Amino acid sequence: MTDVLIKKDNATRAGSNMPDYATARGSFSWDVARAGLAGLPNGALNIAHEAVDRHLTDGRGDQVAIRWIAKSGARTDLSYADLAHETNRFANVLRDLGLQKGDKVYSLLGRTPELYIAALGTLKAGCVFCPLFSAFGPEPIQSRLEIGGGHVLVTSAALYKRKVKGIRDNLPTLRAVILIDGDTPDCKKFGDLMDAAESDFETQPMQPEDMALLHFTSGTTGKPKGVVHVHGAVVAHRETGRLALDLRAGDIYWCTADPGWVTGTSYGIIAPLTLGVTMIIDEAEFDAARWYDLLDTEKVNVWYTAPTAIRMLMKSGRSLPDSHDFSALRFMASVGEPLNPEAVIWGHEVFGMPFHDNWWQTETGGIMIANYASMDVKPGSMGKPLPGIEAGIVEITDTGAREITKPQAIGELALRPGWPSMMRTYLDQQARYEKSFRDGWYLSGDLAMRDKDGYYWFVGRADDVIKSAGHLIGPFEVESALMEHPAVAEVGVIGIPDETAGEIVKAYVALKPGFEPGDELQLELLGHARKRLGPAVAPKEIAFRQNLPKTRSGKIMRRLLKARELGLPEGDISTLESDET
Ligand code: ATP
Ligand code: MG
Repeated sequence: MTDVLIKKDNATRAGSNMPDYATARGSFSWDVARAGLAGLPNGALNIAHEAVDRHLTDGRGDQVAIRWIAKSGARTDLSYADLAHETNRFANVLRDLGLQKGDKVYSLLGRTPELYIAALGTLKAGCVFCPLFSAFGPEPIQSRLEIGGGHVLVTSAALYKRKVKGIRDNLPTLRAVILIDGDTPDCKKFGDLMDAAESDFETQPMQPEDMALLHFTSGTTGKPKGVVHVHGAVVAHRETGRLALDLRAGDIYWCTADPGWVTGTSYGIIAPLTLGVTMIIDEAEFDAARWYDLLDTEKVNVWYTAPTAIRMLMKSGRSLPDSHDFSALRFMASVGEPLNPEAVIWGHEVFGMPFHDNWWQTETGGIMIANYASMDVKPGSMGKPLPGIEAGIVEITDTGAREITKPQAIGELALRPGWPSMMRTYLDQQARYEKSFRDGWYLSGDLAMRDKDGYYWFVGRADDVIKSAGHLIGPFEVESALMEHPAVAEVGVIGIPDETAGEIVKAYVALKPGFEPGDELQLELLGHARKRLGPAVAPKEIAFRQNLPKTRSGKIMRRLLKARELGLPEGDISTLESDET
């Protein structure tokens, strides 16, 4: 924990969507939030109607909904009216293919305009949308299509040839593969189907409990789970976008998340569009110079990114950002992994505002705990629960889950179920789903603590916490201390078995350019950590790595560091992205 406080001035507070946290929390009701939806006749609704067509009647048809920036730098704009027509067409395509309400449409695509059209067109047709990471290999694609029983897959010719063609015979439910480019006889062409389809479509009226989305978890702790979300979740997408990301109609908003991950849908499609923003979508992968250019030239107002990307920007040095103008930026947020205090403070120095960390999971469908525009930021804290969300720190005993109200106590982060975007089940794993609930709490699997001011602090995933000589050590605390050292770009910390202490702390460190691994630096880092954390918590061992193993959504896979350290089986590594070298 740091005792730094980044204070917000009165003008910032007053100008935000939620000028005062306590007041907003006290007066919040999901029914009032629900009244902000346009809805469809007879109490029906549809996420795509809230995201797209409602804006046409609200006079926003000509506003750019999606500004797509190709790898080449070429820009393509789609207005809300364009998006309405294109998604109508895609809904008709699905209908023409014989798809019924509840049938599943998968995407295996990078950030291409077709992905957004397919996602929203699928929802309009009353079908279920399931995005996959485009970097998946054939096996994870097959297993996820099997679990959901996918009916249609939208992908590119190159991805199809490399990854899907060989497994297609194993997928009896898959009726059609639609390619956004190229020409392959056993697939349909997106362009041809769209050209032949009408641009009028009556959006399928859905009930709040009808299934809308299937999202697979990141697989950080084990085999990914298929999480079911419903159309009624849209009220939470919209409200959390408004309160936690401070989004407003007309804002220029950039979410950097991969579309194969839940953030790519909840905050890369649904929340921003329901609030009438202009979304920047960059086809390219991370590149520090390109990102700074984009923030500057596109005049981004709200930016939602992730710790890995922020750490890579930090690693690339100060001269790049210092030659840019970020005066349009109003709010920056981060999700997916613990955000080290160093990164929050760096953001404040470079952009004139801190990154606002927020916490949620595939299961929760939307942001649950956040730092708000109006609230002072304690770097390293995830912030406070959203209005409408009841969180707690609980202790799990043989008899049940008991809330610990004492400040600073570590326990499992738990939530009172009942918010609209909560998962409805893990597909094909009902027992696993039921195990997540105890005594009226949903148990997140993460450990955290709450301080005396009500701020929540991430300690670690329950599986990653280290027990050393009677101490409970959260990897995040150790990683953050090492991150303060100027040589360190990234750290993953695990516990390794030790005869006397039970476990000892080991840190894997990736260095910034210009620093060389060696005994001297190792000793220096060990000394730095000991000074910051004390001998009981500081790592006993440090190993240097060029890269740490991460999921495609950018999460350090500590379980893999551990399996490799101990020579154990690596388990499910379908979501593994960059590997150790
Ligand atoms: P799996 O459940 O398959 O192991 P996963 O938990 O990484 O994968 P996601 O649902 O994508 O899958 O990620 C949610 C998890 O990410 C949270 O439970 C938490 O551990 C971590 N996380 C998300 N945001 C934050 C944050 N702001 N601070 C700390 N951890 C976070
Ligand atoms: Mg999880």
